[in-house]
Amino acid sequence: MKIVEEYKFFSKPLLKKANDAALREKRNKCINPAIVDSLPLDYVFYVTGFMYHKKNELRLTVIIDESGKSELLDVSVTRYQSLPTIRYFDDGNFDVKFSERPYPNGREWQEIEVKKPLRNQIHFRKIVLSAYNNCCSLCDMNEITLLRAAHILDVKNGGPDSIDNGICLCVNHEIAFDNGKLRINPDYSVFAPDGLGVRCNELKLPMDKNYYPSSDFLKQKSELIDKKITDTSRVDCPASS
Ligand SMILES: [Zn+2]
Repeated sequence: MKIVEEYKFFSKPLLKKANDAALREKRNKCINPAIVDSLPLDYVFYVTGFMYHKKNELRLTVIIDESGKSELLDVSVTRYQSLPTIRYFDDGNFDVKFSERPYPNGREWQEIEVKKPLRNQIHFRKIVLSAYNNCCSLCDMNEITLLRAAHILDVKNGGPDSIDNGICLCVNHEIAFDNGKLRINPDYSVFAPDGLGVRCNELKLPMDKNYYPSSDFLKQKSELIDKKITDTSRVDCPASS
């Protein structure tokens, strides 16, 4: 396995802690605390850049959402060095390394992080789009802003952010796939009903077989849709039961 990317990152609690410190220490760049409070708890906030701002202080660029929006935050060099590192491997897996504790009481806030699931949407989008050559797998749409890295099995149903649970779809196909109107079968055949409203080609798979969507996830997705249809028809026809 090869490391393809490596970033230092904040979890929400780490970011809050660093931002509170920056406010307290009256550093030049802080994030509006309301923004920090509104961030989701299970995301990874990457540090994509830093510069030595003044002695013992770094100015960090922190990505705060999926669209790549960033904020600047001034932190001490020690704090920066204490941030955990996330490493991505060429098979789509990742690991997290925690640095040595810089402060005597640092143990608590670092260990809280280890137990939390880490979501890595930005990376997920990047690997999925690149595996499909930045093109919808069901049509020729290649306008990057209209492409989605769709999860086959939703995160809320236990789907991971790994490449075999992802598929690159344009916005139209993503919506149809997500709500079950459009089906991608475990054997990669596609079922698109007549009234779908968007043209649908055969599924284009990634060049690299290692990046193929998992048939197992596709099967689970289909089963969930079937279940939803059954549940809905039960609600719709109370008289028939
Ligand atoms: Zn499409």
